[in-house]
Amino acid sequence: MTELERHSYDVVVIGAGGAGLRAAIEAREQGKRTAIVCKSLFGKAHTVMAEGGCAAAMGNANSNDNWQVHYRDTMRGGKFLNNWRMAELHAQEAPDRVWELETYGALFDRTPDGRISQRNFGGHTYPRLAHVGDRTGLELIRTLQQKIVSLQQEDFQATGDYEANLKVYAECTVTELLKDNTAGDSAAISGAFGYWRESGRFILFDAPAVILATGGVGKSFKVTSNSWEYTGDGHALAMRAGATLINMEFIQFHPTGMVWPPSVKGILVTESVRGDGGVLKNSEGKRFMFDYVPDVFRAQYAETEEEADRWYKDADNNRRPPELLPRDEVARAINSEVKAGRGTPHGGVFLDVSSRLPAEEITRRLPSMHHQFKELADVDITAEPMEVGPTCHYVMGGVEVDPDTASSVVPGLFAAGEVAGGMHGSNRLGGNSLSDLLVFGRRAGSGAAMYVDSLGAERPKIAEADVDAAAADALAPFELEGGENPYTIHQELQQAMNDLVGIIRKAEEMEQALARLAEFRGRIAKMTVEGHRQFNPGWHLALDLRNMLTVSECVAKAALERQESRGGHTRDDFPGMNAEWRKLLLVCGLNADGSVNVARKDQIPMREDLMELFELDELKKYLTEEELPA
Ligand code: FAD
Repeated sequence: MTELERHSYDVVVIGAGGAGLRAAIEAREQGKRTAIVCKSLFGKAHTVMAEGGCAAAMGNANSNDNWQVHYRDTMRGGKFLNNWRMAELHAQEAPDRVWELETYGALFDRTPDGRISQRNFGGHTYPRLAHVGDRTGLELIRTLQQKIVSLQQEDFQATGDYEANLKVYAECTVTELLKDNTAGDSAAISGAFGYWRESGRFILFDAPAVILATGGVGKSFKVTSNSWEYTGDGHALAMRAGATLINMEFIQFHPTGMVWPPSVKGILVTESVRGDGGVLKNSEGKRFMFDYVPDVFRAQYAETEEEADRWYKDADNNRRPPELLPRDEVARAINSEVKAGRGTPHGGVFLDVSSRLPAEEITRRLPSMHHQFKELADVDITAEPMEVGPTCHYVMGGVEVDPDTASSVVPGLFAAGEVAGGMHGSNRLGGNSLSDLLVFGRRAGSGAAMYVDSLGAERPKIAEADVDAAAADALAPFELEGGENPYTIHQELQQAMNDLVGIIRKAEEMEQALARLAEFRGRIAKMTVEGHRQFNPGWHLALDLRNMLTVSECVAKAALERQESRGGHTRDDFPGMNAEWRKLLLVCGLNADGSVNVARKDQIPMREDLMELFELDELKKYLTEEELPA
């Protein structure tokens, strides 16, 4: 029998970013004993890195904004592949979730008349991002943590124990989900297995409901804005538990990551720089984005620099600058400029805010960016342009969930935030992640609480044999001698994904990628980790690597299958969007041998009243003849 510590909860939330914290708050408020488990320090999650803001149609900066406009923008950004019900709930509920944060203690930047200030971002018709300078994620996490502390104080008053109903297990990695297999095919979640990163000791959670809120997958790619935790654990855990992933071919390459110096390549340069007036120029000094406005967006974007510049002062009577096209369009444009030999000395393009705003305005609106470039690249962005280029930033794909409850196909398993799929379709608009976390985090917490209530006294049970198997799997890298170290394989995997399944894709390169991934599978099975279980980064990486491999296989297989270009999936060999493909979702599942299968599934047609929010001419650009309203 495996030696471990054991805890029992109603709901276990894996991940302490915005989605996980909001889910945990909801589950606890609905009376459920809840654990939050996170592999990083509490407070260190991607959410904290979010700079630009949280999209919510509050109409503070432009009273024409409302949920219908936000819905339309989100569907356009995702090129109509989004799960329309998720996009609807998101647009409707985001303003309430932002207001609610202020009741928890958040303080957003203000308009002169005291309302929450909202800024421009790519793809959003009106200024819509509620923000705190360029440190919005920090405020969001700070506030959610503060709410958790206040709930713990309530619990202390009632029980004498701060952690009676809500406890955080930080620096603790979950490696496996457990199910009650006595129920056959409908086996429900019974708990989660993991280890403390510091001591390497095992920990087991008995719980009928698990909410995955583990964030993204960026560490499978070489150039990324993501930090070390984003190894696709939740995606892989869900698949091993029998859940399905959708939209995995859609990876967002943010157009503006730092390209220099090499040690910081990929670090994000927030879209707020462009939202606040920054422009992109090539080595010839040309504002090149005017050459890259696709037909589907032509009516909404300015054709001259003069009109684009007027828009910042008078958005109602001018069209938007093309620098604010959705991210996929801007990333491809930068890629093309660099390929055409018009790049900067370090292989990017110039992003210039210094000639557009006074220095004190730049340091006030973009304090983190100013600091980041000064410290990391010795560049003063108030005096000279930045060099930027695309960086792997966000995965649109994730666990296939029910929009209203965030439940997966596995009873008791829920997912919210970046680990869930569907909401953003083929491309996410900036700012729509923070609002997604709050809207669907809350719904996941409530969905899990309802599920627990439906079970009554009889709860799924954990089999000791499954615990022993999870422990054996976790320790496997210590068992072999003379194998490869995980760092080498990780580097090669990242390089292969970057080069062969990156921003522009071709069938033969993706086939090569799949051959490399099959080779990595064999090498990962024979990896060796030196040393002991006490804080051993090599071991941690070895465990994460299995997840990165599964996720990479999903991305490569789905990308090879989808024979069109849409959002975060650009095929050199199939350059256009194809309305027939829009009707199809690619669903990834796991075979018994651990390899990935991809199946096609029809999209559910959009509800009629939502369809009526669009002009027929616009729908014609995306939908097939049969799908168009009569
Ligand atoms: P995260 O915040 O990523 O948290 C994941 C959590 O899961 C962490 O606590 C991690 O430790 C934990 N975890 C992972 N695996 C395990 C495991 N196996 N066991 C236990 N715990 C685990 N979006 C916007 O809307 N606006 C922005 O301005 C914006 N700016 C961004 C800037 C940067 C630099 C980056 C990287 C992203 C930005 N995004 C932005 C995207 C957004 O921040 C993320 O999509 C979002 O924060 C994801 O939140 P989450 O709650 O899903 O997961």
